[in-house]
Amino acid sequence: EAYTPEKIKQMIKDEDVRFLRLMFTDLLGTVKNVEVPISQLDQLLAGKLMFDGSSIDGFVRIEESDMYLQPDLSTWMVFPWGDEHGKVARLTCSVYTAAGEEFLGDPRNNLMRVLKEMRAMGFSDFNIGPEPEFFLFEMDEKGNPIKKLNDHGSYFDLAPMDLAANIRRDMVLELGRMGFNVEASHHEVAPGQHEIDFEYDNAISSADHIQTFKMVVKTVARRYGLYATFMPKPLNGVNGSGMHMNMSLFDKDGKNAFFAEDGKDQLSQTAYYFLGGLLKHAKALTAVCNPTVNSYKRLVPGFEAPVYIAWSGANRSPMIRVPIARGKGTRLELRSVDPSANPYLAIAAMLEAGLDGIKNKIIPDDPIDRNIYSMDGQELKSDHIEKLPATLHNALVEYEADPLMEKAFGTHIYQNFLDAKKLEWTSYSQNVSQWEQERYFHLL
Ligand code: GLU
Ligand code: MG
Ligand code: MG
Repeated sequence: EAYTPEKIKQMIKDEDVRFLRLMFTDLLGTVKNVEVPISQLDQLLAGKLMFDGSSIDGFVRIEESDMYLQPDLSTWMVFPWGDEHGKVARLTCSVYTAAGEEFLGDPRNNLMRVLKEMRAMGFSDFNIGPEPEFFLFEMDEKGNPIKKLNDHGSYFDLAPMDLAANIRRDMVLELGRMGFNVEASHHEVAPGQHEIDFEYDNAISSADHIQTFKMVVKTVARRYGLYATFMPKPLNGVNGSGMHMNMSLFDKDGKNAFFAEDGKDQLSQTAYYFLGGLLKHAKALTAVCNPTVNSYKRLVPGFEAPVYIAWSGANRSPMIRVPIARGKGTRLELRSVDPSANPYLAIAAMLEAGLDGIKNKIIPDDPIDRNIYSMDGQELKSDHIEKLPATLHNALVEYEADPLMEKAFGTHIYQNFLDAKKLEWTSYSQNVSQWEQERYFHLL
């Protein structure tokens, strides 16, 4: 929706908005909020609101720490909850340097850059429909999550097993009040695990939505004394949380470029090339779509998460699925992504990989419509099915080996992301875990 400064000022009056939450995202995907009183609105609209970027992970060096926030007015949204201090509204912002240039380390600016490349190739939109999953845990008196789940329900269970149904309904209502179009919400397979899917939108709006979504889910959970976590694999032995990404390209006249009435399985050549690009760059993409040490504990056989680089029209074990919808709803579903991913970076990398497929006419291997988990080593080999990287370290090796990543991110983000993630891996690999102590203490 187009919000003018006048319209925003009117809404501030009508709804008694007293604070502005200015949101942007750092390289690690963490939402940063700068909250200012409404008296700062004019400064902000003039692009003169400054903040100190030196405290933000992966952002800038000390000597260039003064940054400006440039609000994207189309992201105006009033949080439905308020108190005696009035309401709070959000605006998602782009980060600019002191010299007034787009900051190259801002993942949102970077996604816009990749979208420009896409438009130069004749497409109008990259649409994303995300399916984030999360767990609800109980909290101790200090507000820290404890490993106690608040229910024992399972997939599509009905009340009274699904004790969290009311909480989820509350989340969906709050999201609705904020203009989200929630398509479905349900209990997931694991106890305490849930999924809320919202309608697809263009790449930037969807990434903005994902960031706001996480905040709303955490806020509502807290209201019930629960802690919502988007950690990819919080518990041993049960499913982890994914964030499947449904994606499609639209052309200039608003038609879905992945659909072709007369194509094989009614998919266009563009769709097959895009798929080819995703498969070709799958290993490097993993570093971005699954960017934490914990991400790789989810990508193991037996828990509905992908392990192999393959695609299918139906089966759920491959990395990419083509849901049966056709026409406007024709899409590819990348099932490897988890909610620890920075959505701006993940979407930029996915798009760059798909566009590379189109530019270089990359033809994907045949679909695998059997259950990959039950195929033996020989079968996998003869079908040329490769595995996704099994650790963050291996994924980073692939990231460095694939020139596409620097193209997708620009040098600043490419390097800073790599440095931050290598540090994370080093910290993990040097830590002596409880598992090791239990396993080796007495044995050796
Ligand atoms: N929770 C599963 C995962 O880790 C996905 C389940 C589903 O198909 O929705 O990806
Ligand atoms: Mg699910
Ligand atoms: Mg799905």
